[in-house]
Amino acid sequence: MTKPATDEMVALVESLRADNDTCPFCLRDPYEYVDIGVGYQRVAVTCCDAGIALIQYEDKVLAKVVERMRAAADAFDAAEQRASSDVKVKDIVWGETSYGRPEAETVVGVYRIVEAWDGGWSVNVRNEVLRHPDGRKSFATLDEAKAAAQADYRSRILSAIQNGGGDA
Ligand SMILES: [Zn+2]
Repeated sequence: MTKPATDEMVALVESLRADNDTCPFCLRDPYEYVDIGVGYQRVAVTCCDAGIALIQYEDKVLAKVVERMRAAADAFDAAEQRASSDVKVKDIVWGETSYGRPEAETVVGVYRIVEAWDGGWSVNVRNEVLRHPDGRKSFATLDEAKAAAQADYRSRILSAIQNGGGDA
């Protein structure tokens, strides 16, 4: 059975990513820094006893524990992904406004696509303007705008689902 992710679990999984400098025990930046004039330099690990043992003294037992935590976090990530990919979200069925612009009424709200000030297309839903992953508020083509609406619709639907269909 897939359990809902809590904020603590998400923070823990995040802390276990290999490329990040978060202590897996206290979830803080483990280092103390000193200003050496041209920037800050790490001088010591000071976050917590377990962090000091792991990072400063490279404790073998703790390293093993972290390795197992990391494997559990990976399994957790995979389970979350499976849970959401098991759910099929229907395509938005687009209609048209009287101005000939795409509009769709869905269970999460009405999606409207209108010309943006920069010549592209912007997508409105629930008084919000959807953003491109890069922060822009318009999409170059109508198809891109519709795809953005579909992605938003999917994430809103999935956010209301706790368990993946795989366990049902
Ligand atoms: Zn720590």
